[in-house]
Amino acid sequence: MYRFRFNNIENTSQYEELIKEFLQPSEYGPEGDTLLEYDFMGDKEEVKRQIYRDLSSRTGKSPKWGILTGIRPVKLAGELLDQEKDPESVLKESYLVHDSKRALVRDILDYQRAKAGKPDPKSLSVYIGIPFCPTRCLYCSFTSNQVQQDQMEPYLAALKKEIEYAGAAAKNAGYKPETLYFGGGTPTTLSAGQLDSLLTKVSDAFAIGGVREYTVEAGRPDTITKDKLQVLIDHGVDRISINPQSMKQETLDLIGRRHTVEDVYKAFDLAWKVGIEVVNADLIAGLPEETEADFARSLEEIIRLGANNITLHTLAVKRASRLKEMDENFNYKDEELRERMLASAHETLRGRGYQPYYLYRQKHTSGNTENTGFCLDDRPGLYNIRIMEEAQSNLALGAGGISKIYFPEENRLERVANVSNYEIYIDRIDEMIERKRKGFFI
Ligand code: SF4
Repeated sequence: MYRFRFNNIENTSQYEELIKEFLQPSEYGPEGDTLLEYDFMGDKEEVKRQIYRDLSSRTGKSPKWGILTGIRPVKLAGELLDQEKDPESVLKESYLVHDSKRALVRDILDYQRAKAGKPDPKSLSVYIGIPFCPTRCLYCSFTSNQVQQDQMEPYLAALKKEIEYAGAAAKNAGYKPETLYFGGGTPTTLSAGQLDSLLTKVSDAFAIGGVREYTVEAGRPDTITKDKLQVLIDHGVDRISINPQSMKQETLDLIGRRHTVEDVYKAFDLAWKVGIEVVNADLIAGLPEETEADFARSLEEIIRLGANNITLHTLAVKRASRLKEMDENFNYKDEELRERMLASAHETLRGRGYQPYYLYRQKHTSGNTENTGFCLDDRPGLYNIRIMEEAQSNLALGAGGISKIYFPEENRLERVANVSNYEIYIDRIDEMIERKRKGFFI
């Protein structure tokens, strides 16, 4: 068991993520008999490189993301490029990132620059949160509530009030929404009538003529009906997500999704029939009891269904999830299996003409991997790209929304948060609006 000592370093928690890439929680602590000592010599990256090399030789592990523990490697590469540095050599020399990850980052960065360009300084991405889902998934750590249809009404009334204010304030300030995104939760938990009224409020409040992408997450296939999809089409929605996570029924039952594989087939069929242009499908590598073959089969199925955006996630077990309560060390099991699942999925997708267009890394993810979005036919999810590059203001409405105002001269963001509990949000809606007025539309 190891024990760490950092000399002349105040914030030692910044090294914790890196240490976790090599050691399980039971392998280090204040009682450890092997002391590893590091001195701060003026460069925190240098300390990380020392830790990496040290633990690499002791454990035999060589995490492919090197000492990079941040969640946005493509953003970092883009900033290096803007400073006229060579991202690949900096990622290699300073961050010890392996070849395969450097190539992936560069490929995505070049694609983003070519297809999405840089955002206009007065453009805006708008996020609207619907914090309801039919049931709670085993691994969920988001704001998700299970309530009856009529209990959603007070929330929708408060949300509309915020939309009305924010739309008018955005117009006044000269902002032009570039993307609109309904997330959650699962927005399609709302009825067709509720969706219609909400989306009407959005188009009345905001100048949406120039919007390049309008997404509504319809993640849970059992919430999708023809009527709801027709409402989305009528309001100009061109992108939805139908998220199977797995196409193996036993897994869906195990993770508490309630829907069936059959529901996924039906949802895709409906989406194409009503004319949705882009359907994203999320898959998770590393779900309980899944094999490599299970994961590969799920991927083949969603390709066959025609998903033109596919996002590969690695299971991240966070503190608030039921899975974490059930199995504290779930994250540290089968890391190699998850890496193999993702590596072969990348190969399959590339072979079928899919291009990786964005990636992000999550904390608490197993196997030192990343989540990657792929697209077909040059239809990347623009909202996702903008959120990850953090070079545009994001106006986030609804419970749990964290707006970010971007200051281009300083390449800096400031956050303005709404409360995440939807009942408190309803009670304090006027205060949420006031926060926006003071913090966002200054
Ligand atoms: S669909 Fe998403 S937000 Fe809803 S319970 Fe499952 S993981 Fe949570």
